[in-house]
Order: sequence, then structure tokens, then C-alpha cells
Amino acid sequence: MTTALDIAHANAPRIDAAPQAEHLPGLVGLTRAEIAEKLAGIGVPERQLRMRSGQLWRWIYGRGITDFTEMTDVAKELRATLAEHFDIARPQIIAEQVSVDGTRKWLIRLPARDGQAPADVETVYIPEHDRGTLCISSQVGCTLTCTFCHTGTQKLVRNLTAGEILAQIMIARDRLGDWPGGIRPTDAPVPDAERAISNVVLMGMGEPLYNFDHVKQAMLIASDGEGLSLSKRRITLSTSGVVPMIERAGAEIGVMLAISLHAVRDELRNELVPLNRKYPLKDLLDACRNYPGVSNARRITFEYVMLKGVNDTVSDAKELVRLLKGIPAKINLIPFNPWPGTAYACSDWDTIEAFADIVNRAGYASPVRTPRGRDIMAACGQLKSASERIPAWKLRGETGHGHAGA
Ligand code: SAH
Ligand code: SF4
Repeated sequence: MTTALDIAHANAPRIDAAPQAEHLPGLVGLTRAEIAEKLAGIGVPERQLRMRSGQLWRWIYGRGITDFTEMTDVAKELRATLAEHFDIARPQIIAEQVSVDGTRKWLIRLPARDGQAPADVETVYIPEHDRGTLCISSQVGCTLTCTFCHTGTQKLVRNLTAGEILAQIMIARDRLGDWPGGIRPTDAPVPDAERAISNVVLMGMGEPLYNFDHVKQAMLIASDGEGLSLSKRRITLSTSGVVPMIERAGAEIGVMLAISLHAVRDELRNELVPLNRKYPLKDLLDACRNYPGVSNARRITFEYVMLKGVNDTVSDAKELVRLLKGIPAKINLIPFNPWPGTAYACSDWDTIEAFADIVNRAGYASPVRTPRGRDIMAACGQLKSASERIPAWKLRGETGHGHAGA
């Protein structure tokens, strides 16, 4: 059974569903220096900039405040001026679904911005007994067209900004009572850990390394110790293999890396992950060997989706083990999650076990990922929003006559 909640009545600690004021510039997603710059712009004296931007930083990212009036250590007058000029509200939650297994999925509406259309994006929360993982999106849709992925059937609508990437974490914290002093929801289990969200994975919609600058800024803010304070070792960026950006991801962001491998021979990977034609297996694995900071304590995760009769033979498993020799690696076998219209099926359980056995015997522990939230279409690769690319003429309010081909 699936419960689709009317969020107005959900038993959760806070609801911030008010639409973001579109006309005011947002502060969420800005660095300390950028916040200071904004404050200077509204007349905060130079000598106060450091202190004031630090205060705002802690209220916004450390406490999750969405209303300037709550910033009690900021002078009342300044609070009012801030509210006149800036926005710190959350984007709107359109729907919240809770799976029988406690997985939650939010559909979030991102408002129109810089001439871009509004767009909907999905975020998923997966509770386990000792951890809670938030799966966030980096783009609406994807330019890549991996054949087994539902997101891959949706064209790229747009990149998310740093603020929109962070808003997913902040909304999840709101709904899970995961800010200091927050109250946990009681409608489904939340892990027995200090934090409801202990881990973040960039495994939702989109290819994070095709939105590098925004992803980088968002993850540096998310891991700042005075703000959201997520450990970089508990943030994982998953890429389908954008080889030239892998080194920079390690050096400049410093989070854990996951590679969507899915095939051990170029011919098949060209088909499943078409980006392989540009960056073949050898180049991808070389980039992994050279990933800054990789070690046995900081392994790269290799994701491998189990597709019936496609990539699941014993010989594939042996080749996988051989290919990864010498790379500090974890292997994650993902049972294929079907979606409407797909031609693929998930490998049989016996086949997955035989495959996992070979991987296990090579020294990789517990490699099969349990599918979660399947009843609410929240599992890996099932995310696809209804957002569509809106032609520029529509955004300008024109009628479209004479714009054939727009
Ligand atoms: N674009 C990035 C991150 C998002 S996808 C990437 O491709 O790595 C997160 C993981 O889910 C990837 O390994 C992806 O290949 C996998 N995936 C996609 N569709 C899937 C499906 N239908 N079933 C299981 N896993 C899937
Ligand atoms: Fe895009 Fe990742 Fe899906 Fe491939 S698997 S289409 S890169 S989201």
C-alpha cells in the first residue's frame, strides 16, 4: 500500500510550503563572501560584514530558519531591511509520498528564474536502522540517454542552481525534524541515529558532473561545519563517467565517488551508457585510479545494474573483478527497477546470487543493493518529472504563431 500524504495534514514538525517570493533574490546557495556582498549592497557597514554574514550563515544553514524575524541576534531594523530585499523561503513541496518501507519521496516545484521555466524535481529519503540517506537531484531531466534509466527518457529541462540543490536537503530536514531541536515524524520509521539524514547521494535526476559549478558550490556549503555540517565522507557523487571532470571532482569537491559502470566491455557499455562512446572504459578506469584521495579507506563505488540476459553472466562477473583489480573499490549490484515502457527486466534472483558470489569471493562485501520505495516509484533510475522544456517564445508570453520549429 502506498500513502500519498496531503502535506497540510501530515504529522510532521514543520511545513514550509509557501511559494518562494520570485521577485526577491534568494540567499540560499550563496557562500559567506557572496552573502557579505549582498549585505554591503543594502548598506551594512564594511566593519560589520564578517559578523553579519556569519550570523546569517548560521541561521540559514545551521538552523534552517526561513523567516528573517526569527534571527533574534540580528537588530530588528536590519531584519526588516533583509526581508524587504531577500528571500530565504523554501521552494514549494507539491507532493510527499511515504512508502510502506519508510522511504519518502518529495516532488518539489522550483520557481521560474532568470527566464527559465519553473520545473519540478524529485528527492528521495531512505531510512535504515543506523543511517538515513537522502538521494538528491542535480538537474531536471538529463542530457544523457542511458537506455535502462527512466530519467534518460526525459530531455534536460535545466540545471539546478546551488540553492536548488541545497533546498532539497533543507526541505528534507524540515520534514524529518532534522534541524537542532526538531521533532521527528511519527508516521514511518526514522533511523535511531543522531541525525535523520546522515548521508547524501547525488543519485537522483541528472548528471552531476554536467552541472559542476553548482554541484561544487552546493556540496562545499553542505559540508561546512558551521552550517549543514555533512561530512564529505558521507556525500557520494555518482557519475555515468564524465572522465575529464572526475579529477576536478576529487580535487575541488572532495566527496566520495560512485561510477555507473553497468558493463565490462565497451561494446555493451556503448549501448547502455552512450557516453561510453566518448569516454571508453579504459579512460574511465584510469581516471578512477587517479581519483584524488582514493585509498582503501576511501573507496570508489562501482554501480552495476542487473539486466536480465544483458550484462549478468558469470563471465561478466569475472571480468568485472578483473577490471577493478588495483582500484580501491566497492561494488554495488543494483537490481534493475522497472518503469513503464522499458524493454529491460531485472535479472532472476539466482542469477544475481551467482553474480554476487563471484564478486564476494573476490573480497567485496555485501554487494547487492536492496531496492527501496518501489511502490512509490522512488527507486534508483525511476525518477522522472512531468516538467517539459518550455520553448522560449512561450516564456516571453507570445502566442507561438509563426514560430514553427521553436
Ligand atoms: N546520472 C548519474 C546519477 C544518477 S543515477 C549516474 O548515472 O551515475 C543513480 C544510479 O542509478 C546510476 O548508477 C544509474 O545508472 C542507476 N539507474 C538508473 N536507472 C536505473 C534503473 N531503472 N534501475 C536501477 N538502477 C538504475
Ligand atoms: Fe542520466 Fe544517470 Fe540516467 Fe544516465 S543513468 S540517463 S546519466 S540520470
